[in-house]
This record gives sequence, structure tokens and C-alpha cells, in this order.
Amino acid sequence: MSNCIIRLMLGNHAIAHGAMEAGIAVAAGYPGTPSSEIIEYLLDNGREFGVYAEWSSNEKVAYEVAYGAALAGARSIVTMKHVGLNVAMDPLMSSAYTGVKGGFVIITADDPGMWSSQNEQDNRWVGLHAYIPVFEPYDPQNAKDLVKLALEFSERHGHPVMMRTVTRVSHVRGPVTVCSPEKPRYSEGYVKEPRRHALVPANARTLKGELLRRWSTIEEDVEDAPHVYIDGNKNLIITSGVAFTYALEAVKNYGVKASILNVVTPVPLPRKVITDAVTRADKVIVIEEGDPVLEQQLKALLYDEDIRVPIMGKMENLFNRVGELTINSVMDGLTKALGIVNPLTSIKTISIDYSPPQRPPVFCPGCPHAASFYELKVSTARSGARPVFSGDIGCYSLGINNPFNEQDLLTNMGSSLGLGMGIYHGTNGKTLVIPIIGDSTFFHTGLPALVNAVYNKTPMLILILDNRVTAMTGGQPNPTSMISIENIAKAVGVDYVRTIDPFDTKKAQDTITEAMSVVKGGGVAVIIMRRGCALEATRLNRGHVARYYVDANACRACGICYNLIACPAIVPLENRKAWIDPNMCVGCSVCAQVCPYNAIKPEGNVKEWLGKWAEM
Ligand code: SF4
Ligand code: SF4
Repeated sequence: MSNCIIRLMLGNHAIAHGAMEAGIAVAAGYPGTPSSEIIEYLLDNGREFGVYAEWSSNEKVAYEVAYGAALAGARSIVTMKHVGLNVAMDPLMSSAYTGVKGGFVIITADDPGMWSSQNEQDNRWVGLHAYIPVFEPYDPQNAKDLVKLALEFSERHGHPVMMRTVTRVSHVRGPVTVCSPEKPRYSEGYVKEPRRHALVPANARTLKGELLRRWSTIEEDVEDAPHVYIDGNKNLIITSGVAFTYALEAVKNYGVKASILNVVTPVPLPRKVITDAVTRADKVIVIEEGDPVLEQQLKALLYDEDIRVPIMGKMENLFNRVGELTINSVMDGLTKALGIVNPLTSIKTISIDYSPPQRPPVFCPGCPHAASFYELKVSTARSGARPVFSGDIGCYSLGINNPFNEQDLLTNMGSSLGLGMGIYHGTNGKTLVIPIIGDSTFFHTGLPALVNAVYNKTPMLILILDNRVTAMTGGQPNPTSMISIENIAKAVGVDYVRTIDPFDTKKAQDTITEAMSVVKGGGVAVIIMRRGCALEATRLNRGHVARYYVDANACRACGICYNLIACPAIVPLENRKAWIDPNMCVGCSVCAQVCPYNAIKPEGNVKEWLGKWAEM
């Protein structure tokens, strides 16, 4: 402990540091809220200790990188958000069969409440489905401790382990004891084991038996995990993960009389630990974040053990099944279950006669995507086309909002091309489909669908909005900085490939119009709309001074600039003339190009600034 200090840390940073303390050699991930800061921390802090960390092109690739390292005997982790695990399901299921040699932990950051996700998937189900044990931390210190434990557990059993964190663990800060990292445990060399590592049917059948035997040993070993039992009453609350902190608060601060058992491994359950606690209880209340994963297993376990005790949780609608738990929702459930008065309802609250202004999500000032959507809208409207805009996951998802309304579908990473092809064929070729996909998402899972469009001759106009980074999750790098999308599109046989700058509005509109005529003739067209993310450009070029302002005498109050490009820096005044907030404008020039009366004028050396920006 002499090399340890206490630091205030973000949960994700604590996880990353814990992995370094456990001697990880390899870490791979794909950015996705709320998981991104784990790899960022390792890229910033791991290299000097010899840790290899990378942003991979998608979660499946990341999984395979970390899994391969663990097959060779290195300690490794892979990180992703909950829905990312679906992309990695293929190697994940196989990894339980082959097992691993070095410790291997899959970190999935679930997003209950869908703060930045398309669903609330609870990945503890995946652990059950795949025979992979799940460790669940409740705060940053616990997360750091558990990732170390999970790596050791994984190595001891030669089996992958999942750690399921949630937003309120990953994105809170708390005091964490951090110690010096261990020397990374790289492999001494890969030992060929085709019988174990080559999953042809004959091998896989044998390995399924081995997997079940390993699972029995794992079930015994989880009994010794650091489950917390706080004795105090015949009412027993069973929790896992962040729900433990709410239960503790209820008992400590709000007069709830109950014992608490926090289960570190919701999958598989520590059967003896639980039956021991339940036999001392008259009533069991299960509190968990997400689905009733603990509760369902608990009911099955107690049926097996012939223990009859009332069990209440999400299946009885005691706690909310949509969104995150809160202390209020937990207290509501507990008061119903225990027949007590909820002290929170009698706490005096001060109401103030003020509601904050509504802030609909908008593109950043100078966002090149806003310009692209504007140009797409104008070009399609002028040509009289009524396309289906098939959207995708990224900052550009904001194109769903007014004034653009150009994301008719949007389901999952890389889906824009595939769904678009389905709509084209499903309407017997009667629909003009325009998939809109970002550079990172294109490299993630868009590329195989592009190959399919060419191979199966499905005419579409594909807009690839290349802003040089994975902007939605904080500007992480991706293959776009090294690999030419144009060359890929040409190599797979796309009929029409053009690259345009969305800040050149006239050329962009002309190119989109030309590409639509190629599609009408049965071709596949790709337009790469390339311009760096405005936030990254201003961050890299601190101190730029070029911007635009409105000449009030020339402005005719037509509203085109503030209504059609929706730049948050442009404000309509009471007289409907436009005004540009000098603190927000980043000098992209688009409003000046769309103003029909030349009322928007440059201030500073805009040409030089835009030239620098284009170099990203
Ligand atoms: S130049 Fe115009 S569109 Fe671009 S950021 Fe400034 S105000 Fe917004
Ligand atoms: S487009 Fe030009 S004229 Fe119209 S409101 Fe904006 S600045 Fe004024």
C-alpha cells in the first residue's frame, strides 16, 4: 500500500487504472457512451508502462484483438457500450467454448435510462446466455477492485469474465485508492492448440462438455467473491451493482429496517451465500438496475431449494422497469413492500416559479453536417425527388430534427445501407434511397453493406459524412485519417464516387443532383462530404479569430440563414433581422453563402482559417 494514494476519480478511469494494477498488456475498444473513458485513460496513461491500447474499427474487432491476446496468454480487456456487445456476439459466444489462457475481461457499460442509446439492454442476460460470469460494481472504488478480481478470476478458470457497469458507476466521481501499475503480463508466445482453438464441429462438441464442467467450478468459486452482507432485520434486501448504494442509503438515512445482501456476481448466483441469507429472512426484496435478472434466478433457486419466502422486485412492479433507479423510486418500492411511511414524501420541498428554457438538441455552430443536410435538402427539393433518408448512428443523427427532417430510419450502427436496400427492394425499386452515414460508422459496419449494394446492383446515393473523427463520443480517431474512403468505394466498384467540401454549398448541391441522376440510371453513387468536426478544428487551432457578422443595413430579414441551416450562433432579432453571436461563430462561411442579399460578412482572415481547417 505504500505506493498508493487516494484520488478523486471517474468510475471509468478507476476501471482502467484497476486493469493496469492487475497487469493488463492489451486493451481494445470501440467508443460508446458511457464506456469511452476507459480506453482514453489507457491511451493517455498506459503507454509509459508498456500497455498496448487501441480504438478498433468496431466492437467485434476489438473483442477479437483482446480475445486473441488472451488466447496467447496475455492479460487483456475489451470495452464497449451495452449495444456494442451485440456486434461482438459472434466471438463472444465462441470465447466461452475455447476459454482463454491469460485473464480476459469484457467490460460492458450499460445505459439504463437511454441517456445516449437506442435501447436499455441489460447485458447480464448475455452472461447467462453465453456461460460467462458477470461481476457488477457499485461505485468507482469497487469498480477498480472488481476489475482486478475479475482478471484474476478469469485467469484462474481459463475463462472470459464480463464486468457490467452502468452510467451511475462509469460516470460518477469518487475517492479511489490507486496504486502503481503492475508490469504488463504479455504472452511468452502463442502455443498452438487447434483442438481447443479451432471450433470445427468435432472440437466444439467436446468443448461444450468442458464448458459445462468449467461452469460448475465457476459456480462454486463465486461463493467466495466479496459479497457484502449487512445483518440487521428479518426483511432482506438483495441487490447487485449500483442498486446496493440506494439500498444502503435507504437503510442508513431513511429508516428502512432491513438486512442487505449485495451480490457481486449476478451471474452465476452464489447459491449458498444467498440461501444462507434468505433462510434468516421473512421477506425478500430484490433491487437491481435494469431487468429482473437477479430476481428471476433467485425465484428458480429458492424453488430448487424448497424455500418458501415472499420475494418482491421488478416482476411485481415494485420498482421501475424503465429508466434508472433513483433513491425516490427505491424508497417508493420499499415503502410498499414493507408497509412503512415514505419519509421522502414528507420532506419539505421548495418550489420556485421558474422552468429552465427548453433546449432542443442542435448541431454545434459551424458543424459541417448541418451544411450537408442543408445541401441535401435543397438539392432533393429542387429535383422534385421524395427520397427515403436512411440514417445512422453518430452526431449526424441530429439531422432528424427541424429544419432538416432527414433521418427517416435510424436503428443501429451501420444500418443505413442495409435498411435502405431492404426498402428499395421491398418497394420493387420504386424508392430513391439515400443512406447517410459517418466515417467512423462506415468503417464500423457500413463497408460490408456497401459491397452488398454493388454486388447485388442496388441503386442508392450514399452520403458519407466524413468529419475526420468519431465526434459523437468525444473526438476519438478512426481509420478515416489513414485509409481513403474514395479508394475503397472505387475498388469495390461503385459507379460514381465524388468528394466534396460541405462548406462549398453550390458545388455540393450540383454534385448531389448529378449523383441522383446516376442512381436513377441504376447506379450506386457515393459522395464523401469531407470537412473536419468544428469542435476539433477550433480545439486544434486555438486562438483563431476569423468569424462572420451580419450587416444590419443589408439584412432583409428573410430568415433563410436562421431557418434553414439552424446554426445556433445565428439569432433572429425582434425585427426578424439576423444577428451572429461573436462568441459562438466559428467562421465556417455557410451562412454567408446562403444569404441571398450578401448581408453576412467576414471578419478576420477567413480564407486562411478555412484553409487550416481543411487540413484536418
Ligand atoms: S459562419 Fe455562420 S453558419 Fe458558420 S458558425 Fe458562424 S454563424 Fe454559424
Ligand atoms: S439570410 Fe441574409 S438577409 Fe436573410 S435573415 Fe439572414 S442575414 Fe438577413
